[in-house]
Amino acid sequence: MSTYDLIVIGAGPGGYVCAIRAAQLGLKVACVEGRETLGGTCLNVGCIPSKALLHASHMLHETHENFEKMGLMGAHVEVDWAKMLGYKSETVGGNTKGIEFLFKKNKIDWLKGWASIEAAGKVKVGETVYETKNIVIASGSEPSTLKGVEVDNKAGIVVDSTGALELPKIPKSMVVIGAGVIGLELGSVYARLGADVTVVEFLDFITPGMDGEVQKQFQKILTKQGLKFVLGAAVSGVSTENGAAKVTYKLRKDDSEHTIDAEAVLVATGRRPYIAGLGLDTLGVEVTDRGFVKIDDHWQTSVKGIYAIGDAVPGPMLAHKAEDEGMAVAEVIAGKHGHVNYSVIPGVIYTTPEVASVGLTEEAAKEAGRKIKVGKFPFMGNARAKALFQADGFVKLIADAETDRVLGCHIIGPNAGEMIHEVCVAMEFGASAQDIALTCHAHPTCSEAVREAALACGGGAIHA
Ligand SMILES: Cc1cc2nc3c(=O)[nH]c(=O)nc-3n(C[C@H](O)[C@H](O)[C@H](O)COP(=O)(O)OP(=O)(O)OC[C@H]3O[C@@H](n4cnc5c(N)ncnc54)[C@H](O)[C@@H]3O)c2cc1C
Repeated sequence: MSTYDLIVIGAGPGGYVCAIRAAQLGLKVACVEGRETLGGTCLNVGCIPSKALLHASHMLHETHENFEKMGLMGAHVEVDWAKMLGYKSETVGGNTKGIEFLFKKNKIDWLKGWASIEAAGKVKVGETVYETKNIVIASGSEPSTLKGVEVDNKAGIVVDSTGALELPKIPKSMVVIGAGVIGLELGSVYARLGADVTVVEFLDFITPGMDGEVQKQFQKILTKQGLKFVLGAAVSGVSTENGAAKVTYKLRKDDSEHTIDAEAVLVATGRRPYIAGLGLDTLGVEVTDRGFVKIDDHWQTSVKGIYAIGDAVPGPMLAHKAEDEGMAVAEVIAGKHGHVNYSVIPGVIYTTPEVASVGLTEEAAKEAGRKIKVGKFPFMGNARAKALFQADGFVKLIADAETDRVLGCHIIGPNAGEMIHEVCVAMEFGASAQDIALTCHAHPTCSEAVREAALACGGGAIHA
């Protein structure tokens, strides 16, 4: 029996990053993973496969919508769904194998199987109990279900995000329940592939938590792309018959009942922490009322020597948040100073155009009673965005009214998910909007719109 310095449970972006960092810091590390492949939700059934399908379907959209505008005539592209799924699986396989390589390179033992914690310092996998000085729970999350709706990914009619990444065929019609990030990304994929997509959302707006102006503009753009929205609607049930589904919902404003028929239904109503089988209740590890593992400022649970990170703990359910926590907790366990700046965690929606945000929204800043100034610049004034046919969005920069310090940024536009990082770096360094405005930005780039928004926080944008 080996004795480890650290056993990490779960090899998603939180767990595998934690294991690698700890090994780099000289600890003897093992990582337990129950799946066949490493990489967790993110690499296997989350970020990576969804981005592969978004990329492929975006290419198709370009041939239909924009090729002829650029003088590229006669492109007739047919979709081979099996081949597209093959491309998605190859992308996933290349990445999960990459983590296996990194484990070998860093001498991390992959303990294959499902783990339970016998006691602080003891992790059981199969019939073997391993001893370890520290344990990190990085067991992630799973799709949450909706009352009255039964998901059956195998049947491929009523599915969650995992099933939606592998539908047996491209449906002619699809209902997406939930207008959050996952629902809109996968809804976009199928809309671009030709499905008639209707998004049904309980709230009166899409993408809860995002900047209000971004929400409105994003919905407008998606509607232009063919997605239909039913907002303020509570789904009460989904039935299936003859290979199709019927979604029943009530409009909250007048309680009227409606139905929509669809070949496929994607239930995208959020995710919940996955901690089943770990034995946390017998150990006395406390959880919140929503089932997340409770942690202190150093990611330690209520039991000494047992830590938790990623989707299993409170906070945004994002791969990079899990990674940052993984690195930080490894540092803490190695006796160093791990740190995560939770006020600078970007969020991205990988539709076309992309939507990206970091820091405070205008609404949140005002609610907190902060005096702010808002610099806004439309991509209509950005030469590069116009050439890309993606000039419908804008950059909105929020700065403190007195100090000019950047507090947040919200972008809807081409490559927003890449552009947001200059603002993240600025925020990490406590920069002012003027610092961004005074920084030379290459021309012609979409990033110039960020500079223009920063200029708009001061003397005014040039191209608006
Ligand atoms: C469709 C979809 C798209 C997404 N897109 C993005 C995106 O673009 N960007 C982004 O930042 N986030 C995205 N996410 C969210 C992202 O996948 C998660 O936030 C991230 O994977 C969380 O990482 P984690 O390490 O905490 O857990 P996970 O990635 O869930 O990994 C946990 C791992 O632990 C294993 N495990 C659990 N219990 C045990 C046990 N007892 N023993 C052994 N192994 C165990 C599981 O098998 C799993 O592999 C997406 C999610 C979905 C579903």
